[in-house]
Amino acid sequence: MISIEEAQQILKENQPAPRITDVCLAEAHACCLADDISAPEPSPRYTNSAMDGYAVRWSDVQAAAEKESVSLQVIGESMAGVPFEEEVGFGETVQISTGAMMPQGADTVVRVEDTDGSDQTVRINAVRKQGQDVRFAGEEFQAGSRLLKKGTVIKSRELALLAAVGFDTVPVFNPPKVALLITGTELTGLHDKDIKPHQIRDSNSIMLASAIKEVGGVISETVTIQDNLKSTIQAITRSLNNKADIILCSGGVSVGRHDHVKNAAEAAGFKQLFWRIRQKPGKPLFASLKNGTLLFGLPGNPVSAYMCFSYYVKPILATFQGFPTCKNCLTAVVEQEIANHGKRTNFIRVIISKIPDEIPSIKKTATQGSHMLSSIVQADGYIILQPGEVLAGGSLVKVFPF
Ligand code: AMP
Ligand code: MG
Repeated sequence: MISIEEAQQILKENQPAPRITDVCLAEAHACCLADDISAPEPSPRYTNSAMDGYAVRWSDVQAAAEKESVSLQVIGESMAGVPFEEEVGFGETVQISTGAMMPQGADTVVRVEDTDGSDQTVRINAVRKQGQDVRFAGEEFQAGSRLLKKGTVIKSRELALLAAVGFDTVPVFNPPKVALLITGTELTGLHDKDIKPHQIRDSNSIMLASAIKEVGGVISETVTIQDNLKSTIQAITRSLNNKADIILCSGGVSVGRHDHVKNAAEAAGFKQLFWRIRQKPGKPLFASLKNGTLLFGLPGNPVSAYMCFSYYVKPILATFQGFPTCKNCLTAVVEQEIANHGKRTNFIRVIISKIPDEIPSIKKTATQGSHMLSSIVQADGYIILQPGEVLAGGSLVKVFPF
């Protein structure tokens, strides 16, 4: 058996290579940028007005700055989307709206509120300085400036910026394609109403499929397999041929006579990376590799499967997409002593209490059994305790929120 640190190191060394493609902006939402993005053009692209008012020549209205109103002839209008095409000359002005292009000759905007006027003439009552209320081309950024860094998660604000400067596609890390293979002759589907006394409802399929989606992965297929070597080999081979980045098997990785995932993976040409980790829950976790496709054999116990998914599979799926791996890890105060008297590293499920402006605190969930799904439902996350480790009440611990 290896340690959890060794297992993570082995996985890190065998992380599937990311795939990068250009996608349209709508599809890029929530994806991670695969390259730095530079501005193809300046912003603003053209000099325009920041206010509804009048575009004027400073030299004409300077007197109004010294409290003497000035009268100008209105020769037209520059609307947002319909610019004024001529030049503003001596003693002239044009009406201008917010965002409209500044006409030639004008260098300053006077707000409507500081004027009295008609369509023919306008009286400028007050003005502060030359260039007031003008948004100058390139004042936000110049063409060529870096707008977004590789690794940025593209959300609504980033999409707006990309759209504003004319991008219709951007390079992103692709979501990983995950094939979900659920083993167990005892399993029944969700819609199976007459469950027999010796059967188990398959809760891992929906749990793992949703957990994969929660971290941005795409399920390429979900297959349920009887505990049978031949069908397991066939299912693994098919997922490999369908170019899954990751094959996630549930159940069948222990030492039972009917646990076939390990042998099936080897028969399908996968090379074992590890099998069995000194940890609780999740000891039988199996990992193997073929042609860059990573196959995980998760233990069937739902809590074990979820914990192995959280600690080992989730970071692989995150890294594949360029996401940080422990972005919401936190430090918390231990409310009451928590100890690991066993010989294996423990993933202890905890409830996190958050009080504004205070360090969060944690306590262990009442049940920790690996067959007790309610324990992960009550929990908000987990902590890791090495064999023999005792956390006294009041001490600090790193928490991995689900
Ligand atoms: P296994 O790892 O295949 O030996 O399964 C360990 C335990 O987990 C057994 O009690 C199984 O019935 C249960 N189990 C296996 N697969 C699932 C599943 N998909 N949903 C719920 N329980 C399961
Ligand atoms: Mg089984």
